[in-house]
Amino acid sequence: MRRVFILDGYIDEPTCLGVPPYISPYPRYIAGAAWDFDPQIQIIYATIDQIRNKTSLLDVADKSDILVVIAGMAVPGRYLSGYPVSPHELLRYLSSISKPIKLLCGPAARYGFGMSGGRSVTETQVVQHIFDIIATGDAELIVFNLLKNKLNKDAVDPSLCRSNPQMIQHFAVKGARIVTQHPFFPQYLITEIETYRGCSRSVTGGCSFCSEPIKGAPSFRMIDEICSEVAALYTAGIRHLRLGNQPCIFSYMAHGAGEEEFPRPNPEALEHLFKGVRMAAPDARTLHIDNANPGIIARYPEECKKIAKSIIRYHTPGDVAAFGVESVDPVVIQKNNLKATAEEVYQAIRLLNEVGSQRGANGLPELLPGLNFVFGLDGETKNTFALDYAFLKKIYDDQLLLRRINLRQVIPLPGTRMSQTGEKNIRKHKAVFQQFKRTVRETIERPMLQRLLPKGTLLKGVYAETYEGKLTFARQLGSYPLLVGIPGIHPLHQFYNVKIVEYGYRSLTAVPFPLDVNTAPRETLEALPGVGKKRAIRILAKRPFTTFTGLINALDDPTVASTIKEYIQAD
Ligand code: SF4
Repeated sequence: MRRVFILDGYIDEPTCLGVPPYISPYPRYIAGAAWDFDPQIQIIYATIDQIRNKTSLLDVADKSDILVVIAGMAVPGRYLSGYPVSPHELLRYLSSISKPIKLLCGPAARYGFGMSGGRSVTETQVVQHIFDIIATGDAELIVFNLLKNKLNKDAVDPSLCRSNPQMIQHFAVKGARIVTQHPFFPQYLITEIETYRGCSRSVTGGCSFCSEPIKGAPSFRMIDEICSEVAALYTAGIRHLRLGNQPCIFSYMAHGAGEEEFPRPNPEALEHLFKGVRMAAPDARTLHIDNANPGIIARYPEECKKIAKSIIRYHTPGDVAAFGVESVDPVVIQKNNLKATAEEVYQAIRLLNEVGSQRGANGLPELLPGLNFVFGLDGETKNTFALDYAFLKKIYDDQLLLRRINLRQVIPLPGTRMSQTGEKNIRKHKAVFQQFKRTVRETIERPMLQRLLPKGTLLKGVYAETYEGKLTFARQLGSYPLLVGIPGIHPLHQFYNVKIVEYGYRSLTAVPFPLDVNTAPRETLEALPGVGKKRAIRILAKRPFTTFTGLINALDDPTVASTIKEYIQAD
């Protein structure tokens, strides 16, 4: 029996995320292709973190017939539960593996390894000699052909791409069950779902830094095809989904896509899509979206209002429409063919605030915009930073809400216009960028967070992922989850409801709710409003308490007692 080993080194692309807790479509489609060829094939899936922790898994990989490595970061990201594989790790882990045909796919195969924003990619050539195939095309088709051609690697075309979305339909459904092998399955795994590939702005070349236009005009998957994949994932046990694998969810099935740069959105298609997904996954605990083009929303406000309402009808709260703003400087917009002017972005922000700012059951507003800025683009001057800041300040002063502001430096990807100039641009404004970031954090992001989630707000279902010192870090599952620091050591890999007590620049401090003062660690007690070190020690010395009155008596100040009442488990 043939054996295929899929090593997920994680991918992060402009339109697709596959870093835990996300699993991208890559491993699912690849597994589906192998099972479509032969349902008996043994497929083993492992993440790079599993290999890092247990290198003996490489012996299993060495006994396989095909080893597929998925890798590449094409956009800069910050991660908590896993970090994309580096070329050096691949050299270290895979050099001695000899039996299987080794295939590299993902952005690393197409553009090289992006390591962080502002740094050039490490070229694929660095690892080329340890692979038999560098799959610049669609890995699932290449794996299928490899199996069909009895593992004759010379008989397959590594640049083979699908010509229509129907080509992956069987693969998407058949490969869904590979998710059960992910170490985060089932409770903390979110599946990225593709609705289409390609960008409508490819007709004008697209944004200067982006790799998406290389994929051409939009090629939409049919609603029933997406829903049958969702149903297969749901049957496999998945309860968290994100329709995030496309450049703009508001442009799904848009009229004139492929001919027009800003096609007219199709609210009926979006209503059917979200209704269908919800029916296929009735008890999904997360159903979120990702990217949205503010230029589309500003041009077609009525259609987009309807679409936002459809999304809210079927999704789960805490959802984010990530707007690729990149810059509001007209010079930068023009030189880089960006998608929206400052005024258009502002209109789009206002529209989503009108439709989506009400608070949902998990404590977060239903659907809000997040803004992505990219620095190091052509035409950038010191004035760019001033204009971007003034824009953010206006949003804040106008009482609008943003779920996040992401300030990144461009990764100069080969094949994009930025590959020539990106690094030079970044060097020029390195210090200005750092200063700008600090100012935005202090004067916009932190106060925005306070407005978004006032102290005492109950956030439901944050999942404890890791520790740093005596702080437990947790996040909700979904699009752009806020980082929550819970003072004290609390058991990992569990969900908590928490109440907010303090703010970082981009994170929250919160305590589990309701807090059991009889068992809470000292650091957690200290974090309660008005408690601090001395009172926490007093509580520790006098617990256990059997009544709230006992706790009041233990504290020296009745005002503090009444303040913390809303955080603790009374009696
Ligand atoms: S609109 Fe620009 S950033 Fe978005 S996918 Fe298209 S080219 Fe890329």
